Amino acid sequence: MISERAKKISPSPTLAITAKAKAMQAQGIDVVNFGAGEPDFDTPQHIKDAAIESLQSGFTKYTPTSGTPDLKKAIIDKLKRDNGLEYQPSEIIVSLGAKHSIYNAVLATVNPGDEVIIPTPYWVSYPEIVGMAEGKCIYVTADESASFMVSIEKLRKAVTPKTKMLILNSPSNPTGGVYTREQITQIADLAVEKGFYVLSDEIYEKIIYDGREHVSIASLGEEIKKLTITANGFSKAFSMTGWRLGYIAADKEIVYAMEALQSHSASNLVSFTQPAGVAALNGPQDVVEKMVVEFDKRRKYIVERLNAIDGITCCMPGGTFYVFPNISALYGKSYDGKVINGSDNFADYMLESANVAMVAGSGFGADNYVRLSYATSMEAIAKGIDRIAEAVAKLK
Ligand SMILES: *Cc1c(COP(=O)(O)O)cnc(C)c1O
Repeated sequence: MISERAKKISPSPTLAITAKAKAMQAQGIDVVNFGAGEPDFDTPQHIKDAAIESLQSGFTKYTPTSGTPDLKKAIIDKLKRDNGLEYQPSEIIVSLGAKHSIYNAVLATVNPGDEVIIPTPYWVSYPEIVGMAEGKCIYVTADESASFMVSIEKLRKAVTPKTKMLILNSPSNPTGGVYTREQITQIADLAVEKGFYVLSDEIYEKIIYDGREHVSIASLGEEIKKLTITANGFSKAFSMTGWRLGYIAADKEIVYAMEALQSHSASNLVSFTQPAGVAALNGPQDVVEKMVVEFDKRRKYIVERLNAIDGITCCMPGGTFYVFPNISALYGKSYDGKVINGSDNFADYMLESANVAMVAGSGFGADNYVRLSYATSMEAIAKGIDRIAEAVAKLK
């Protein structure tokens, strides 16, 4: 019999839709895939070269659990340069992707019954990870009319003596929402006043548009810095999703606990990817900027095209490579006698009848929406939206 813990976990819906789309493609079906949560660009050559060189030089043994000193130094330099944060090596730990970093951070801080505030729509893994730590998720809904930014008043109301942590994700997956400096400052003040941790997932910090500013909450003062667990990684900014490199910067007590956990599970992350991480952080950053310029064109195009479809409305995201259109006006309509009653039905309909993959909003706690990733070519976007428009027009 499998454990109660395992029974409670639902597999990642984003990975599931990607797998389904890939299986259809393998059968020769021409699927337009808006499901993938990863950039479509290749990992830059200088980063690959660093890994190859390291492998060839025999850097293939265990490394320190929390990461090589070189990689930790590159992370410290990056946090200082980009985020205005000062950390010591004892306050940094590298793990197998930011997802693993977040998992370890939650397991190292959340006790059974502790409350963790999760602004909704949320990234699919947060509730599952909090559940694995037997924490209690407290969902605070952010309205579309407020660009999916949760208000400070709502957050304040959600705080109780049991609040242990707030998970902040700006720019946000799935909504693309980006909190302003003022909003982040209000959240920091609340956390300091009430004394809870802020797990700040900053993986999309570089994928941000229209001159918006990414603000690391830990940079707003010593008190909030002590309470902040900053998570980041290489997957999204450097197109390195398969490499599995992520890190946490936090108070050394937390990092020490995470290191103990990791020493009995993963040990260290892959040895020869660590020099590649150093190359990514210390090398030319224009690769990221070029990618963002391309994403920006696609963002404007996909939003315009989606809004031109009767029954779909889509707000302009401020960051990431996702759009989160509202499709609820189509609920109650049907095809072949089957009624569309929610985002799962809608995503299934699109995949099966239009060969377009997207992720249902239900997995993000927002059933009136679907998430489309525009980390795919302009040509594929045009084709995919044509198909969506056609399939929507067929609904009765
Ligand atoms: C992709 C993603 C991550 C995890 O990235 P890794 O590949 O594990 O480094 C974490 N948070 C959010 C919001 C993401 O979208």
